[in-house]
Amino acid sequence: MPAGLYIHVPFCRSKCAYCSFYSLQRAEQEIPRFLEALRREMAFHRRTFRSFDTVYFGGGTPSLLTPGQIGRILEDIRDSFRIAANAEITVEMNPADWTASDLRKLHGIGVNRLNIGIQSLDDGILSFLGRRHSAEQALRAVREASQAGFGNLGIDLIYGIPGQSQEAWMETLSISTVLPVVHLSCYELTIEPDTPLARLYGSTLPEPPGDSRSADFFFATSRYLAGVGYLHYEVSNFARGPLYVSRHNSKYWRRVPYLGLGPSAHSFRGIRRWWNVRSLPDYLAAVESGRSPVAASEALSREQMALEDRFLALRTARGLHLESYRRKYGTDLKGENGPLLRKLAEEGLVEMSRGFLRPTRAGLAVADRLALF
Ligand code: SF4
Repeated sequence: MPAGLYIHVPFCRSKCAYCSFYSLQRAEQEIPRFLEALRREMAFHRRTFRSFDTVYFGGGTPSLLTPGQIGRILEDIRDSFRIAANAEITVEMNPADWTASDLRKLHGIGVNRLNIGIQSLDDGILSFLGRRHSAEQALRAVREASQAGFGNLGIDLIYGIPGQSQEAWMETLSISTVLPVVHLSCYELTIEPDTPLARLYGSTLPEPPGDSRSADFFFATSRYLAGVGYLHYEVSNFARGPLYVSRHNSKYWRRVPYLGLGPSAHSFRGIRRWWNVRSLPDYLAAVESGRSPVAASEALSREQMALEDRFLALRTARGLHLESYRRKYGTDLKGENGPLLRKLAEEGLVEMSRGFLRPTRAGLAVADRLALF
């Protein structure tokens, strides 16, 4: 499988209450310098990564760039690497940003997949999360993106918000399924350290759903979406059929090499993983003085690789191909861990199908623990 390319756009207009990603506010005057630094950073990787068949603009908020600036980055990528003719090119968008005309331009320059961060269709919840758009803006963005020609259109949603009832969540979900979208990412809210939510949390806020309520949300979501034709293909991801599975994110789960450009971006190839400096000023300073912005790297041991292969594969409905795993690591999981695998199967967490060990829906709910067998 060809490698994937990730571009981290490190700007946000305001910080959402739950967010721990790296981004800067009120720094948009740095966008031209950032674009130039990205172009220079590509030169560091020309020899190791020659071609890509997915490009993903994430962040941060890529929709703070103009379609023209996204187009310039794509041109720079094509000057340094080969982009496959059928490449999946995704951009993440905040519903408050691009207009209908921007969306048409974006489609016109070859972006063929859009992921809109809607998070909720309840204005009270959007305000609690610190999102800078309303439910109405979210619905308009989806409509305008569809009219602009984006058939491969996805949205992100968050559940498990303190005080949110399952009925309110299912209402958001059911409206989402009648929108012209083909991909849904449904994430459970996690309270990350050093976020505004973590600082507020514990004193005045109601409790988030505990383990059993989380499981109820998870199962209700999976059953409902399966019932209306969605494929539950990864713990948090659903597609309206195999054509709409995220090709880029699938590379992470299948251990295909990827290159990340921009502050805090991570990369992986062979047994090596590396990541860029987190701060935009440090990133700009490094690249502008001709130095690589890589902060650190690590070589994964055989045991780490094997554990990560199991861990990532068992997050997906595709599962782990046991014969490929045996050839790669010399371990026959079925033979050596037979009794444990049988126990997991009896508990309804895994099943065997065409040489794959696959998590069931109940297995996906506890995917992080499945890999530890
Ligand atoms: S827009 Fe995205 S990256 Fe920016 S603060 Fe909100 S969640 Fe974080």
